[in-house]
Amino acid sequence: MDTHAGLHSQAILTINAGSSSIKFSLFLVPQLNQIIAGQIDGIGGEARIKVKLASKNTDETIILPNGSRPQNHREALSFLIDWLHQFAKDVDVIAVGHRVVHGGQKYSAPTLITDAVMKDLDALMVLAPLHEPHNLAGIRATQESFGGIPQIACFDTAFHRTHKFVDDCYAIPRYFYEQGVCRYGFHGLSYEYITDRLIHLFPKDARKKVIIAHLGNGASMTALHHGDSVASTMGFSSLDGLPMGTRCGEIDPGVLLYMMQHEGMDATEIARVLYQESGLKGLSGGLSNDMRILENCDLPEAKEAIDYYVKEVKREIGALTALMAGLDVVVFTGGIGENSAVIRGRVLREMAWIGIDLDEARNLDGEVIISSDSSRVLCLKIHTDEERVIAKHTLELSDNRVVKNKVSNI
Ligand code: ADP
Repeated sequence: MDTHAGLHSQAILTINAGSSSIKFSLFLVPQLNQIIAGQIDGIGGEARIKVKLASKNTDETIILPNGSRPQNHREALSFLIDWLHQFAKDVDVIAVGHRVVHGGQKYSAPTLITDAVMKDLDALMVLAPLHEPHNLAGIRATQESFGGIPQIACFDTAFHRTHKFVDDCYAIPRYFYEQGVCRYGFHGLSYEYITDRLIHLFPKDARKKVIIAHLGNGASMTALHHGDSVASTMGFSSLDGLPMGTRCGEIDPGVLLYMMQHEGMDATEIARVLYQESGLKGLSGGLSNDMRILENCDLPEAKEAIDYYVKEVKREIGALTALMAGLDVVVFTGGIGENSAVIRGRVLREMAWIGIDLDEARNLDGEVIISSDSSRVLCLKIHTDEERVIAKHTLELSDNRVVKNKVSNI
């Protein structure tokens, strides 16, 4: 495969290991041109690698041969690394950046991974048992395959460590907070990317009162003032806040007690329902977790799932606006936020009272500015790129490490 990278180019590999898929990208240094973006999914079943090459701008799907079907993340990663060695043999990977969902209260910035950091991250697994183990398996696999090159952890929670105590605590006995039971907020890498884009594209507005709606399969919203996260809809886990593809969003804890006491469900069953059977999928009566399918379906369950989704997005815009005592900019991003003119249109039309004047044509055309020139609140649609944020931090931190090593060698 021709990566158009040139002989012996150096690159940063980014790894985003989720529950059943692993996203990866290669970025050439120092400009960080992305030459390969891909995903290995179907781990444990019929695994596939989907790749997009910058040189071709087409998607290619490679079904793995029978003998090489990875059964778990470790096998999938070692397969991926072998595949990269084979298909991008003109590229030397000089550092690996990892998306790590949870950095707890301690990690508020990307971090060079050492044995001590791994020990901390192992201890944090209890806070994100469905995500963190996959992230850490990714780190261990690349440590084994790439030897001593720098590995950098980029945390989804780090962006939100600017919150005040009252924006992060729950009104339960205080010792839980001391144990780490508090609001963390997630999707931080996406928020960081969008904040950087805002500063670049709209420098006069970027530091005002901003809400970013990351509406993908997972979804959350964050309020920012002066470029810092003030509050986020996601809380202790990635279940809270907005309804998602299959996750429930905000829910009365009494419902969980009901599931336990009256349905006899244990923690594993409840977790399965809340993470995999709820959200758009659950509300649409199992029709789909995919907004595209629901938008094109006439059944009342599909319509009600969308109605609930729109209602919750509006409700959270209202709540976050109240916390900031104002609103100047709303940004939509993520798979739904970037592609669904229907959802953006409904939310913004129904929030006209807050000073939003939607430009219907701009919204339908998917322009960056989707509000009218006279709208008091600036409404935007911006593509997010979490992988690029990881690559940027990985380059910065691995460069620092090289400099530090040089200094300590003198
Ligand atoms: P993830 O959170 O897994 O990164 P994405 O941000 O890629 O997910 O979002 C995926 C979701 O975006 C899909 O499940 C689908 O619901 C939604 N989506 C993608 N394209 C469209 C579209 N054209 N219209 C409506 N929804 C879309």
